[in-house]
Amino acid sequence: MNRLDALRGTTPPKPHDARAIAALAANPGCSRRALMDGAGIDKEALARHLGHPAPFGQSPFAITRGNAFEALVKADGCAELIRMLRELLGLPIDEVAYHDVENVGAHLRHTHTRALIDRAARGEGTGTVYDHPLFTLAIAGHTAYLEPDVVAFQLGGRFHIVEIKSFAVVDGQADPAAVAAAARQAAVYVLALRTLLEELGHDPLRVAHDVVLVCPENFANRPVATLVDVRRQLAVLRRQLARMTSLDRLLAALPEDVTFDLEPDDDGRPARPVAELADAVRATEARYAPECLSTCDLCFFCRDEARQEGASDLLGRDVRDALGGVASVREALALADGSRAPERGQEEIARLLRGAERLRRECLA
Ligand code: SF4
Repeated sequence: MNRLDALRGTTPPKPHDARAIAALAANPGCSRRALMDGAGIDKEALARHLGHPAPFGQSPFAITRGNAFEALVKADGCAELIRMLRELLGLPIDEVAYHDVENVGAHLRHTHTRALIDRAARGEGTGTVYDHPLFTLAIAGHTAYLEPDVVAFQLGGRFHIVEIKSFAVVDGQADPAAVAAAARQAAVYVLALRTLLEELGHDPLRVAHDVVLVCPENFANRPVATLVDVRRQLAVLRRQLARMTSLDRLLAALPEDVTFDLEPDDDGRPARPVAELADAVRATEARYAPECLSTCDLCFFCRDEARQEGASDLLGRDVRDALGGVASVREALALADGSRAPERGQEEIARLLRGAERLRRECLA
């Protein structure tokens, strides 16, 4: 058994989906998450057993709304989508064709997707829009199966990932957090399709870094399509995945006997004492940020831990980065009021904090 399997213990590995892989890019500096995802640990079950269940998961209403919007966009062989793609990507009217990969049955979808993409890349076949394709991506030695909403092939040789989301675009603006999450997820599909093209002997850069994001416009159900550049998300994702395949340094820093095993008792509930499991989790280094609250199952546990430590991470990435190496709020306050002398390398941030404290006092006076 290798070290990652030992971390997971007797629990089977949790497969990664695109949402989970995308979330890796949301907090690339967190060793705890890198180790847990590398070992295929079920973080949702872990958080529940620790008494800090994750706060998210889509409401049934949101899921129904999302499914209805996707069905509308894809109705009649993606007619509405193809109309938008003609405008956005310049698809010639007489050359648009539609393939529903799902028609072949789930177990054959990946093989069929490969064959269709290969033919398109060779300039053979008539398919321009591929519905329900199935890609794979290797994540720390495991194969993740990924289902983008649609892939569009532009005759001119470029593939575009199409992501259909049900959050609204109002007066040309959408919720930036929702767009960022959609861009991270689409970047996973871009990477998976580039990997597939490379395996098939084609140029991976034929997959565009501009993904097509389709959303309802102005609270009506009329879809609108925009191009979103995901180069930055791709770069973070690649770095994070490379980091997950080389977790040796993080594993070496862990005590030998650490495991996150959730072996169930006779009732099917994890038998592990909660305090013991919490100690094991605390043995890994976290990098909490408020963004974790929408992207990681362990967020409530890590937030609690950061609060107990008074970590400056709680104030968000911008403040944490601005504070440089000052790890706790108490330390920052002590540097600001001069009750603590700066350590080597903290002189500049201490000077700025003292200046900010002086301004605060002047304002209050
Ligand atoms: S919630 Fe915890 S484990 Fe998850 S990314 Fe944030 S700090 Fe890391």
